[in-house]
Amino acid sequence: MFDKLSDRLGGVFDRLRGRGALNETDVREAMREVRVALLEADVALPVAREFVDKVTEQAVGQSVLKSVTPGQQVVKIVNDALVEMLGSDASELNLAVAPPAIIMMVGLQGSGKTTTTAKIAKLLKEKERKKVLMASLDVNRPAAQEQLATLGTQVDIATLPIVAGQQPVDIAKRAMQAAKLQGFDVLMLDTAGRLHVDQQLMDEMKAVANVSTPQEILLVVDSLTGQDAVNVAQNFSEQVDLTGVVLTRMDGDARGGAALSMRAVTGKPIKFAGVGEKMDAIEAFHPERVAGRILGMGDVVGLVERAAQVVDQEESEKLAAKMAKGQFDLNDLRAQLRQMTKMGGLGALAGMMPGMKKAKAAMQAGGMDDKILVRMDAIIGSMTPKEREKPALLNAKRKIRVANGSGTTVQDVNRLLKMHQEMESAMKRIKKMGGLKGLAALFGK
Ligand code: GDP
Repeated sequence: MFDKLSDRLGGVFDRLRGRGALNETDVREAMREVRVALLEADVALPVAREFVDKVTEQAVGQSVLKSVTPGQQVVKIVNDALVEMLGSDASELNLAVAPPAIIMMVGLQGSGKTTTTAKIAKLLKEKERKKVLMASLDVNRPAAQEQLATLGTQVDIATLPIVAGQQPVDIAKRAMQAAKLQGFDVLMLDTAGRLHVDQQLMDEMKAVANVSTPQEILLVVDSLTGQDAVNVAQNFSEQVDLTGVVLTRMDGDARGGAALSMRAVTGKPIKFAGVGEKMDAIEAFHPERVAGRILGMGDVVGLVERAAQVVDQEESEKLAAKMAKGQFDLNDLRAQLRQMTKMGGLGALAGMMPGMKKAKAAMQAGGMDDKILVRMDAIIGSMTPKEREKPALLNAKRKIRVANGSGTTVQDVNRLLKMHQEMESAMKRIKKMGGLKGLAALFGK
């Protein structure tokens, strides 16, 4: 997500921050580069222009240029402007009505609408403990209703039974009745997709909106289509009262133009980002976190959330207790490696950690990638339980055995042992400083 823009802006800001004093020309020059970077990211031209004008005006102010850290201040101004461009207010779903709250999903065919419907239903069930019913109103595309039913089974969400031949408005009415009678908190209506903005289907969508008066009308658009996605949103919002946009395929979108222009052009907030084909590959869209990722400042909150989702709580607590005692054997290292893999590997983690973008590039340049996690796991897997607890047992002969067993080399084994040693001595230092309290002291808390 936003990789190219992030790289470009990183370069510009490194140069700004690297200099003690700044004058107006420096700032204007940097902003010219920011403008080019935004346009390369496929941001709509008027949006890019307005952004740069606003930031320039604030950044050439005397208080900024005369401050002790002018570069830093400019980055802060850019950050705030980015958050504003992405839509500063939080974009939570508004479901606070007498149940069932109704969410209507609209969008072009192939945008990921049905997948997203199931993803959001799953999210509501797991995060907010909502009882959700899904209904497909798509009678145009063959098997569309079955597709939603299949997804429903997969994520364990109820779907409205299919009645052959029933038309969308009637399906909507039946769904509302079923949701009310059976005590569902949320009803999701997956409307028919369309190939392009076509009046007949638009009328159908309006009719469904009229009978169901949804709390949320979410438009699903494919972020890979860039400015077309923004135009589609503009078109739809002229026909129905969209409450928000879901951008899918953000996982494949290195440019990010649709995300960056959507709010400014359409006035509609982005509420979710689809980040993969799996049913949990969806994220609530938080402008301040996204801006942080773009500017390489990381998304620490997102990282912690992701960890909480996938990391085995019991395992982490066991590990933390051992670490507090200064113990850290190869079994512990292996557990940590596995949790990293579960959290999406080095690449996913690097983008979320402050200052890690560069470290990631360096790792990749050094041939280090996610395969290394797998390789390290294999190395530890080829050791005996005793060796894992007491790595000092590994003499030259044993190392050859482990290397052969894991399909690696003795150098690989040595590298892993060295890494473990470094981590172990870090744990011991922490323990000497008074355990976790010592660690907190390190960070000045
Ligand atoms: P619909 O016609 O709009 O209902 O589209 P579908 O929900 O059937 O999705 C079309 C394809 O896009 C499917 O293969 C989905 O798995 C895929 N898809 C949906 N959302 C995402 C996403 O966020 N990332 C990726 N990579 N694929 C997605």
